[in-house]
Amino acid sequence: MKTILLSSDDEDIKKAAQIIGNGGIVAIPTETVYGLAADALNGNAVRKIFEAKGRPMDNPLIVHISDIPQIYPLVSEFPEKAKILAEKFWPGPLTIILPKSEVIPDEVSAGLDTVAIRFPSHKTTQKLISLSSPLAAPSANLSGSPSPTTLSHVCDDMDGRIDAIIDGGDCAVGVESTVVTLAEDIPRLLRPGGITVEQLRSAIGEVEIDSAVTNPLEEGEKAASPGMKYKHYSPNADVILLDGENNAVYEYLNTLTDKNAAAICYDEDIGRISIPCISIGSENDYSEQAHLLFASLRDADKMGYKTVYARCPRKNGVGLAVYNRIIRAAGFNIIYLEGADKG
Ligand code: AMP
Ligand code: MG
Repeated sequence: MKTILLSSDDEDIKKAAQIIGNGGIVAIPTETVYGLAADALNGNAVRKIFEAKGRPMDNPLIVHISDIPQIYPLVSEFPEKAKILAEKFWPGPLTIILPKSEVIPDEVSAGLDTVAIRFPSHKTTQKLISLSSPLAAPSANLSGSPSPTTLSHVCDDMDGRIDAIIDGGDCAVGVESTVVTLAEDIPRLLRPGGITVEQLRSAIGEVEIDSAVTNPLEEGEKAASPGMKYKHYSPNADVILLDGENNAVYEYLNTLTDKNAAAICYDEDIGRISIPCISIGSENDYSEQAHLLFASLRDADKMGYKTVYARCPRKNGVGLAVYNRIIRAAGFNIIYLEGADKG
């Protein structure tokens, strides 16, 4: 298939809307990561997304809207707490799970009786949705690889597999949206992202954190968010997390003899580590770390490293989102050193 490259100007957004209207699939820019979109109400079109990504059919998609009232036909309930979150955090990197209405095809919800909804803040994608329809879209990477945060990441994974790619520049947040379910009695965080659990709690009170956010699923345990059971965000290189204080991490890395190893680290570490370093920003700047994380994993592959040692992020604020992604990239392979935070 020939994949056409579109710009974010009005003419090209119209072309993308036509492709979507004809049941095609288009990679779209959002503030979190690039998405791979189809008309959310067209089950056959949505099926093509799973084929292009190699995504398991039991992993549901997020439906993207461009205005809060568009949610009404898509859900069977829109409870008060969901309204509060929508008013406060939309448009933005927050996905809300609610009981679905009958218009949602099974391909989108993977047979669940709920649907995930988000109102992204990227203007290009808002325009595309207003010209076409609500869009079902997962991240625009091959299933299992790090999510794409730049146009070139999308081209690397999707050229020749989809109808079109819209260039919307680099993604601002860099990790996927926060996912919270309001389809149960107590709201529960299923995936951390740019909107923090602290922000959710200050808006609606109690919010539980699903254990799969920081822990591997137990054998036979059912995933609240089906995506959590799959290998995720992984480069070709093996990723190993180093949890410990600075000096313990430096000592560990500086005694390695592996010529094919690199470190994903912080700006402050540069000059103190003797193997090649890819920095994801300053130690306390969690937003910058989120912004650069997936690109750093892809860069490690491009540079040919076979093993990547990554520093263990903190688990507060947006740090929880960085931690959640990198422990999955590492397949929960963590080396605990002096000063590790096992909490
Ligand atoms: P992605 O599309 O790659 O950003 O992944 C979307 C995430 O949201 C996956 O982890 C899905 O399993 C999760 N998700 C989507 N819809 C639902 C739903 N109805 N219930 C629970 N999790 C969902
Ligand atoms: Mg994804």
